[in-house]
Amino acid sequence: MNTPQDVKMRVYSFGDRVADGNSAMKNLLGSKGANLAEMSIMGIPVPPGFTITTKTCTEYNQIGKDNVVSLLMTEVQIAIAKVEKSMGTRFGSNENPCLLSVRSGSRVSMPGMMDTVLNLGMNDDSVKGLIAKTGNSRFAWDTYRRFVQMFGAVVLGVSALTKEDQNPFEEIVEKYKRNRGIELDSDLDVADLKQMVRDFKDLCEMQTGKKFPENPWDQLWASITAVFDSWMNPRAIYYRTMQQIPEEWGTAVNVQAMVFGNMGENSGTGVAFTRNASTGENIFNGEYLINAQGEDVVSGVRTPQQITLKGSKTWAASAGVSEINRKTKYPSLEELMPTTYAELNTTQAILEKHYNDMQDIEFTVQEGKFWMLQTRSGKRTAAAMMKIAIDLLAEGLINEEQVLLMQEPSKLEELLHPVFDGEAIKAAKIIAKGLPASPGAATGQIVFFADEAHKYQFSILVRVETSPEDLEGMNIAKGILTARGGMTSHAAVVARGMGKCCVSGAGSVIVNYKTRQMTIDKQVFHEGDWISLNGTTGEVYKGKIRTKDGELSDDFETIMKLADKYRVLGVRANAETERECKNAIKYGAEGVGLCRTEHMFFEGERIMRIREMILSEDETGRRKALDKLLPIHRQDLKEVLRAMANLPVTIRLLDPPLHEFIPHNIENQKEMAFEMGVSIETIKQKVQDLKEFNPMLGHRGCRLGITYPEITEMQAKAIIEAALELKAEGIKTFPEIMIPLIGTVKELKLQKELLKTIIDRIFEEKGDTIDYLIGTMIEIPRACLIADQIAEEADFFSFGTNDLTQMGFGYSRDDAGKFLPIYIEKGILKSDPFQVLDQEGIGQLIEIATKKGRATKTQLKIGICGEHGGDPSSVEFCHTIGMDYVSCSPFRIPIARLAAAQAALR
Ligand code: ADP
Ligand code: MG
Ligand code: MG
Repeated sequence: MNTPQDVKMRVYSFGDRVADGNSAMKNLLGSKGANLAEMSIMGIPVPPGFTITTKTCTEYNQIGKDNVVSLLMTEVQIAIAKVEKSMGTRFGSNENPCLLSVRSGSRVSMPGMMDTVLNLGMNDDSVKGLIAKTGNSRFAWDTYRRFVQMFGAVVLGVSALTKEDQNPFEEIVEKYKRNRGIELDSDLDVADLKQMVRDFKDLCEMQTGKKFPENPWDQLWASITAVFDSWMNPRAIYYRTMQQIPEEWGTAVNVQAMVFGNMGENSGTGVAFTRNASTGENIFNGEYLINAQGEDVVSGVRTPQQITLKGSKTWAASAGVSEINRKTKYPSLEELMPTTYAELNTTQAILEKHYNDMQDIEFTVQEGKFWMLQTRSGKRTAAAMMKIAIDLLAEGLINEEQVLLMQEPSKLEELLHPVFDGEAIKAAKIIAKGLPASPGAATGQIVFFADEAHKYQFSILVRVETSPEDLEGMNIAKGILTARGGMTSHAAVVARGMGKCCVSGAGSVIVNYKTRQMTIDKQVFHEGDWISLNGTTGEVYKGKIRTKDGELSDDFETIMKLADKYRVLGVRANAETERECKNAIKYGAEGVGLCRTEHMFFEGERIMRIREMILSEDETGRRKALDKLLPIHRQDLKEVLRAMANLPVTIRLLDPPLHEFIPHNIENQKEMAFEMGVSIETIKQKVQDLKEFNPMLGHRGCRLGITYPEITEMQAKAIIEAALELKAEGIKTFPEIMIPLIGTVKELKLQKELLKTIIDRIFEEKGDTIDYLIGTMIEIPRACLIADQIAEEADFFSFGTNDLTQMGFGYSRDDAGKFLPIYIEKGILKSDPFQVLDQEGIGQLIEIATKKGRATKTQLKIGICGEHGGDPSSVEFCHTIGMDYVSCSPFRIPIARLAAAQAALR
């Protein structure tokens, strides 16, 4: 074998119990390649092959096809020679052909990537050799037609001309089946298959205008480069953006000797999970098909059978198949091939122990001989993610740290998804039943095409089966229903990964793409009709069903407790109402990090008083309006402070530009004029006066309090009086008054002095005091640079990263939609900086401010509020630079707690 140390090495061989790579080399070999190497070393039977590195993919994108092929030529030839030696076949030989599979494989599994090409090396000559060698002409022709179909679809891009049309290859298969009056493609005979090869090739030549390549080497290079190309296809790019996978990673290419599950009744292929990917239960499960190959199991061409006897019985019960029928028509692998099953079962247990995680595995049996084709950490739901880790901990396979590191923080959001309301579901009518492919409740309007999922606010994507092209639509839809495919189908796997509700394999659903109709037992449903799905039970309902918030599970509490044990970063919530505060506490908030007072001014009476203040001619008028607002504001703040008893609450003084409050339509302006006893013209004039060219850089933040001190005065009164009143009730509060948008020390100083004067006066009046802090938001780049001076006046800093990003980049948040997506597409930015903190630039500003602030005051309390407080990578950054807490919306608190624990462990 080659030495992996050689930096120029682009090809890594595996097979026959040895390998150049291993599972630690996922970055270079992709996850599939690294794990194939690892399994070889472990002595698990894996067909020999080799992996072309992910770095080569990057080279390919730089230097192009021809150059990469010449760079790879020698290494690939050597690697193929090893495969030939191991298999006793020859690549390109007519008599004894070595057939190959070409598979993509990046660091993480990507459903948007290229499909696999199997049986590469087939042509009009090698098919004869294969017949002579195996004496099985049905097998040889089946292999050939599969090759032409896959190569045609995947490499040559032959496809349906419109989305309503059926896949043209499938159309041909259907035609043959119809002519013969058979249902299954495994019943096609040699004559059919032979003719089908011709038809497939004609189809390819017609669509591409080129001859179908006969030369195996041409086939191979075309397939390898097609895998590289697929890294940049729109589906893959979409998936990467969705999952924040960097483009630089690239994909590896795995080339491997074929093993054949389509050699007859003693052969087959299957997919299995070492534990349940939906619920996390420790139950080995999976699906297989006899006399089948590759994607047959997942694509739903035939109803897949269950691997275990227990699984088979459960399946039969839910599908309404009698025990006799089950045993004869759909026996489990355990019953049908007990030796193979035993081998599979042993292997899955070994693999799970070896990787210490639930594995998603693929295997093939060729005439009784067992081969493993893949193992990887299985995609799972959030519930399964937690349960599996907790169980592995109890089984002594992993420790607490590993439990936490195995959790994907952003998946926790799934747990907060709604479930059907118990009463509403009782009244609902079940119209079909499928497999519970991905749990959850979804209600929406039917769409039949992925690119139409956005047609309705709530849509349910109904398909015969999904394919990687449907990714974006699956993401947009609220739920997915498929007529075909099992628990391991594309739809099921992708939906679980996305945490999206999915019912698959609902056999009674007949989909007609042309008429845009779905028929179930003669009942017709049209596009736009409402249906509901229960992905936990597999039930499909007619109509819209009310949902409610899901309950938090015990596993969730266990994981959160564990996270709290390891994290050092505090977690607070952005909240303005009692309800939000209660939610925040339920999810584990340790205080409010941002209470935006302007959010308390929009409802009813409040907005009127604010408008009155804004539209007043002079200070007297403003004070009059503010006096009326004071008791309401005090009451609102009291509710928040009460809900957060014993916990700190950061209350931010009024921040937005005033024009956000004023009426822009004539009706409301009239009402305002009447209310204030002034003419409509006066109002209109005032509205005109308040217009700003750049409101975000205009009269807002502390600039309001500086120009209208009476606003700050009123807010100070409301806060302190509320706290004192609560104290009288025996409730302890810790208000932290936050002054927004500071750019100079003097601004802070003036506002602080004003606050202190008012507060001291109230203390004196009431003869009582409370503890409070006065701090500031750091959200203007200048403030970061003079943070040492600002810290002299501030008890705390809270980074307002929304504004800091806006002003640091010079991107108006409200206008960025026009160019940000293009910036991301062109790779100028890796992600939206308003969602994921830009650590490189904005991060530096935060670091400078933190260092300077703490240089003045070692104990300065520092936190972050804004969208980034709930983003895992940003939370990690906050931990690293030593902040005290992050603050985010209540629903993101669990994510922040977990991310904070992971940051502490890393
Ligand atoms: P995916 O990443 O979508 O799972 P794979 O590369 O694993 O794609 O391949 C798709 C299908 O082809 C799988 O069912 C796999 O078992 C089958 N397959 C891949 N390589 C071989 C091979 N060398 N022999 C037989 N079947 C193969
Ligand atoms: Mg695939
Ligand atoms: Mg696979």
